[in-house]
Amino acid sequence: MPLGEFDLIERYFSRPSGRRDVLLGVGDDAALLEVPPGRALVAAVDTLVEGRHFLPDAPPDSVGHQALAVNLSDLAAMGADPAWALLSLSLPESDEAWLRSFAAGLYALAERHGVALVGGDTVRGPRVVTITALGCVEPALALRRDGAKAGDVLFVSGWPGEAGAGLEALRSGAMRGDDDALVRRYRYAEPRLELGRALRGRASAAMDVSDGLLGDLQKLCKASGIGARLDLERLPVSAELARRHSRTECERLVLFGGDDYELLFTVPAERAAALEAGAPGALPVHRIGVIEAGAGVRCERDGRVEDLRGAGYDHFA
Ligand code: ADP
Ligand code: MG
Repeated sequence: MPLGEFDLIERYFSRPSGRRDVLLGVGDDAALLEVPPGRALVAAVDTLVEGRHFLPDAPPDSVGHQALAVNLSDLAAMGADPAWALLSLSLPESDEAWLRSFAAGLYALAERHGVALVGGDTVRGPRVVTITALGCVEPALALRRDGAKAGDVLFVSGWPGEAGAGLEALRSGAMRGDDDALVRRYRYAEPRLELGRALRGRASAAMDVSDGLLGDLQKLCKASGIGARLDLERLPVSAELARRHSRTECERLVLFGGDDYELLFTVPAERAAALEAGAPGALPVHRIGVIEAGAGVRCERDGRVEDLRGAGYDHFA
């Protein structure tokens, strides 16, 4: 017998979180949440549609992970402390094996970051997952896209391009399993919450890389009303990426791949060295350019301007 809506919610989405700021969670008409005085509520929502944002044969736990991760990455990019999430789930049927795995992936990430699932909605329809993530930050310390100034140093965290390589491997049928390092990077990418917090009051602007580093840098420049120089020879290429792809392919993946949830951010020049030396956790940060007067992004390689439109990248732009 298929599981009814209320049993489904009770069985899979009612785990207690232990957060004391959840005055009322799943079960009433709405959740009651306590925002600490002096802090602003930070809200983000993202929808994943089967066939468009995740592959129909994706492991359900990876869908649960991704749906929350993409939202937590937005909170990380704001420098917020994540706190609560709401889940809207549209499913063609109540497939318990799918639900159990989906919930396991979602809660594993939620619990790692102390996020409470406090409500949602469950409907019948095509498989679509929408999560709203909520967090808190002192408004004056929030990381925004619009604060970059000429002379600021441009950084990216971690190893962009790996998730994009994993996704391409899955799409081409070259790779299927979770045992592959790049496929795992795509399916279970980690939102950079610790780095986001550490950048509060330090970075002048920040955003997460979701649509590719180059395109997202253009957005950051536009929001800040300024230009940037990107040093192509400084782009970080992970050992795993380099082992599997040519140098040109690696550069394409780093510049245009999404889904890594790395942070792109700018720091006033006098703070750049300290940040480079002491980024939090095991995550490296890489200096990849500088903010400068003007508009848009100028790519240079070893000090010489390079026009990427002439470099065979057109089909990705
Ligand atoms: P209402 O009709 O008042 O919106 P629902 O019957 O849709 O209430 O939901 C009952 C309770 O279960 C609510 O507290 C709602 O937030 C929660 N809920 C529903 N679906 C989910 C879900 N997929 N995940 C978490 N909580 C859910
Ligand atoms: Mg409802």
